[in-house]
Amino acid sequence: MFSFLSLSYLIASVTFILGLKMLSHPATARKGNMIAAVGMALAIITTIFLYEEDGKKLHNYIWIFSAIIIGTIIGVLTAKKVKMTAMPELVSFFNGMGGACAALISVIEFYYLYSAHPTADSFSNFVSGGHYLTIIAGTIIGCISFAGSVIAWGKLSGKIKDFAFKGQHIFNGLIFILILAGAVTVYFYYGTQQHILFFITVALALLYGVFFVLPIGGADMPVVISLLNSFTGVAAACGGFLYNNKAMLTGGILVGAAGTLLTILMCKAMNRSLLNVLIGSFGGGTNTIESGNKEHGNVKEISITDAAMVLAYAKKVMIVPGYGLAVAQAQHTCQELQKALQEKGVEVLYAIHPVAGRMPGHMNVLLAEADVDYDYLLEMDDANSQLKTTDVALILGANDVVNPAAKTNPASPIYGMPVLDVELAKTVIVNKRSMKPGYAGIENELFYQPNTSMLFGDAKKVLQQLLAELKNI
Ligand code: NDP
Repeated sequence: MFSFLSLSYLIASVTFILGLKMLSHPATARKGNMIAAVGMALAIITTIFLYEEDGKKLHNYIWIFSAIIIGTIIGVLTAKKVKMTAMPELVSFFNGMGGACAALISVIEFYYLYSAHPTADSFSNFVSGGHYLTIIAGTIIGCISFAGSVIAWGKLSGKIKDFAFKGQHIFNGLIFILILAGAVTVYFYYGTQQHILFFITVALALLYGVFFVLPIGGADMPVVISLLNSFTGVAAACGGFLYNNKAMLTGGILVGAAGTLLTILMCKAMNRSLLNVLIGSFGGGTNTIESGNKEHGNVKEISITDAAMVLAYAKKVMIVPGYGLAVAQAQHTCQELQKALQEKGVEVLYAIHPVAGRMPGHMNVLLAEADVDYDYLLEMDDANSQLKTTDVALILGANDVVNPAAKTNPASPIYGMPVLDVELAKTVIVNKRSMKPGYAGIENELFYQPNTSMLFGDAKKVLQQLLAELKNI
């Protein structure tokens, strides 16, 4: 039978696929986001007004619309107020909320079934194995995603520090075994108190989420963030299965698949296996190095005037943006500098490291905001092959992604992570405010190399001064 509800789910699913496809390029990402959002709104509205079960429609509109209004106000205000540099932690937090919602759907379904059969001896007597598996998987995965994302939010915003103790992996393994044991026992338990065991399993899953993300340090956070994203998708897909809601199922599967692919890509970008990330605490620095280590020699400073000269007389300049550029909100000034150099006949390119910044694609988003032409953006491999013929590598607030220790020092926690080979350029100019380390909390030998000069200061101010100097050349 033709149903408007099914049609709306089909349209919504198509918008999700289209939106996701468009998100893969900065030029279409904004539009893609809008298209998928419209599809989601359509699915929500038609579900509220057209969904029926046993001939009954939804009736608790006051609750539904109050929740929607409160959620929308909080969402809009937070998204509008958030600074660009705080975007990664906000994304992490929103992902956690998605995980919590997906988990709640499964928890409510469990409680509904449990309350509907108060005298049944065992859950297995009235719920099929497949249905229970969907409920418990949605609950556990959603809870891990929620708790893990909240910890990731805390770590990205600097509110929570890395925390690891001896035997942590064994401890985590034990919690995981207990969760599985709890999940099986709830189903086969003979008696009427399954809900107590169920809620203990929920608590263990939350605990696991916390201890799973807490020890993962520095450089590995991008992998964990995309992994948690895929968890939320899988948990939402379980909710879609439970309610036979095709839009939710498609949305969940798309998020789960996209998150999984991103996790694989991030692992490749870091040259690490997923298992290695989860048990290795890679880059889990203590972030205690405060100043330059004199053992490496002295750093050489360059003045604004000299830096402007070197840039103006170069044939090819490679700009390497990093987290500091986002902190300084210097993307627009950076684009102005690029234009000023191009007017002087300098070829200007950007080297984009996949984990530069604090969220996947952070530098692409940042530079797109400043209307930097995508043709000038080079992915890491292309950038590395161009760096050999580059006159000046201008590093703006990047640190870990240009650290040669990843190639030369097997003892370094980031050893093996592919980095930008900026030292191959004839001259390297590094702009940052001090000798403090980056996110991984480790020293960077690049700053002490003979062809490197430090240009200290806030990226925006330094770029403005460089622009002013360039006008006089
Ligand atoms: P880093 O965090 O390694 O370094 C950023 C540098 O910017 C700092 O050393 C800081 O030095 C400098 N800086 C900060 N503010 C300013 C400013 N206002 N002006 C100029 N410089 C400034 O950044 P990278 O982009 O090189 O590397 C990203 C790191 O973050 C990697 O370790 C990555 O694994 C990790 N990460 C990435 C995620 C992702 O998804 N992309 C997610 C989570 C973590 P100073 O204080 O001296 O100015």
